[in-house]
Amino acid sequence: MAAAKSAMQIRLPPLPSIKDVIRLYKLRALRELSQNFLMEPRLIDKIVNAAGKIENHVVCEVGPGPGGITRSIIQRAPRKIVLIEKDPRFIPSLELLADACKNKVDVDIITGDILKTDIGHYIPKDVKTEWEDSPPPLNLIGNLPFSVSTILMIRWLELISKQEGPWAFGRARMTLTFQKEVAERMAARILSSQRCRLSVMCQNWCTVKYKFDISGAAFLPKPDVDVGVVTLTPLKHPIIKQPFKMVEKVVRQIFSMRQKYSIRGAETLFPEHVREEMALKLYEMADMDPVTRPYQIANMEFARICEAYSEIIKQYPEFEHYDYRAPKKKLEAAEVEDGDLSYT
Ligand code: SAM
Repeated sequence: MAAAKSAMQIRLPPLPSIKDVIRLYKLRALRELSQNFLMEPRLIDKIVNAAGKIENHVVCEVGPGPGGITRSIIQRAPRKIVLIEKDPRFIPSLELLADACKNKVDVDIITGDILKTDIGHYIPKDVKTEWEDSPPPLNLIGNLPFSVSTILMIRWLELISKQEGPWAFGRARMTLTFQKEVAERMAARILSSQRCRLSVMCQNWCTVKYKFDISGAAFLPKPDVDVGVVTLTPLKHPIIKQPFKMVEKVVRQIFSMRQKYSIRGAETLFPEHVREEMALKLYEMADMDPVTRPYQIANMEFARICEAYSEIIKQYPEFEHYDYRAPKKKLEAAEVEDGDLSYT
């Protein structure tokens, strides 16, 4: 019987431990950048293993910090690694790593904000596969800062919906950490108590897998919450086929009154004077029962609601830009900055 082919490993020369790197470079964790460093090599490897095979792949790591996850990625022999880190204090320790794997792995270190970085720019063109094919040899990995993780996920879902950015190269996989409650919500199925608009949005464009928890105690400094590791693989075809912004609006309004009948939230898609009448029409067209609660609605049913909404705004274009939240928007913007439990 043929022996199983073992994955290639890159041996790095002896390097100071992550604890020593933090001490040597005086890298005091900054709360405003959600800096919680993962110290245990076993858990770091577990995250990187959750990404599957990355040998010869291009890997983009968000927020490498002192480089614990980066080391584990490099050891698995990727072809190239793109590091995007906002805090310039980490650059010398990342350069040390780049030097240690010189001539073996191509390392790009970008000092910048992930929310403003066009990752696609750093990806070699030849990794591209067709959308309908298997995922390309391209992975996004990150122990994400809590302060940007949900907003980043929503932006990435929009890029996935348009097949832009890293997803112009095919259905690139993601292996990411989130605050545990957020990770659970992303993966929550219909009827689950955690089902929310984030679940519907993530599962509309991706297969979401909740892989495992990491206790807050594994990080330095210890955050107040535990962490969940999630993998996402873009779907070949989204379940709700309408444009991202429309799906986001319909799903947001329907979940805006989570405990009530879902038609109450749907009413807020329309101006007050036609609210009840139009929501009933919407539910009739979508063949939905008005007494269904938001967490009882499957993505297939959201697809029917969004299709019916799209028909209605063709008939009544004046409703398209109606925004129930207009006066509350300022308040919401402040909530997003407060953390990542706001997208529920
Ligand atoms: N990867 C390291 C680890 O696992 O120990 C650090 C993870 S720490 C939770 C988050 C990292 O993201 C920090 O290094 C922080 O400086 C960086 N970061 C925070 N906001 C960022 C942003 N907007 N863009 C890029 N990096 C960011």
